[in-house]
Amino acid sequence: MSLNNYSSRKRVLITGGAGFLGSHLTEKLLNEGHEVICADSLFTGTKDNIASFKDNPYYEFIRHDITNPLQVEVDEIYNLACPASPIHYQHNPIHTIKTSVMGAINMLELAKHLQCKILQASTSEVYGDPTVHPQTEDYWGNVNPIGVRSCYDEGKRCAETLFFDFHRQENIDIRVVRIFNTYGPRMHPEDGRVVSNFIMQALRGDPITIYGDGSQSRSFCYVDDLVNGFVKFMELDDSTATGPINLGNPNEFTIKELAENVIRLTNSKSELVSKPLPKDDPQQRQPEITNTRKLLDWEPNIQLEEGLKKTISYFETLI
Ligand code: NAD
Ligand code: UDP
Repeated sequence: MSLNNYSSRKRVLITGGAGFLGSHLTEKLLNEGHEVICADSLFTGTKDNIASFKDNPYYEFIRHDITNPLQVEVDEIYNLACPASPIHYQHNPIHTIKTSVMGAINMLELAKHLQCKILQASTSEVYGDPTVHPQTEDYWGNVNPIGVRSCYDEGKRCAETLFFDFHRQENIDIRVVRIFNTYGPRMHPEDGRVVSNFIMQALRGDPITIYGDGSQSRSFCYVDDLVNGFVKFMELDDSTATGPINLGNPNEFTIKELAENVIRLTNSKSELVSKPLPKDDPQQRQPEITNTRKLLDWEPNIQLEEGLKKTISYFETLI
């Protein structure tokens, strides 16, 4: 625990704070008057994402890989560090799984030392290619343990195990969030995820690459809604509220529908082209958020059309 608790200003560590979600979370916490320490290796995150914070006296950046231990004095930890896009996490799969597993151990040891709350950014990928639809938190999933996505899926599953073992064995106050596909400004334009790919392709007039026949579904959450959920969950003053909770927008779209929406909203002349479906690509995904709604009094407010317009405006500034 930091010794600055004479005020309501908290000192918060965000691992992965220079990434897409981490930079939005930073912005929200700084705006709420807190102090943020970002620990990031800059593997997929960028200095551009955090450039607007650098003159803020309550912001600090540490270039650090969480597979190594870290000592800082903070009141809360958000553990977000991990490449999230399939292209990025498959680039060095051994390091990806080390990030999830050794990173979780290092951050949980830090939380134990500081006796502070810690939130884990888990993922809907823990459900794998789900046979239960929509996915409820009590579903154990359908994950290939030896496939190309396993470094990410199994790494995140093991991190959840570690969080719950530290909770049971060491009494650590944990918050585990299963994030469903989230999009918005500051996504990496080349990270290969579907929303950034489609918008960049549409804006450049390049063909829109549909993997498979485009009938697979995802449910897309706008970043502001997601980050509001993070903070509400962390603020809950109840050490039994561990989660895991699903955080996402239940409005489900096929990938083909997403492509058509992007083309319409960008007035693009791009055509749809078919590419092979990546190995182990989940066929469907939709969060069941009844528990989250009740626990956090939380609701996603920004629907796909509005969120895509905001995201398109951001990507236009990059071209
Ligand atoms: P991102 O790639 O933009 O951000 C990840 C950040 O972690 C980057 O800044 C990267 O440099 C940093 N990082 C990676 N490995 C690291 C390491 N070993 N040590 C320190 N820093 C490291 O991805 P994002 O979309 O912002 O995702 C953030 C978190 O949320 C990830 O844990 C991801 O698994 C999870 N998540 C995201 C989504 C989504 O749709 N965006 C969905 C499910 C889960
Ligand atoms: N996808 C696609 N074209 C692309 C990028 C992705 O059709 O250019 C598909 C991908 O096969 C998957 C879905 O979009 O079915 C979501 O992919 P993403 O990588 O964004 O996230 P994840 O598979 O991890 O949900």
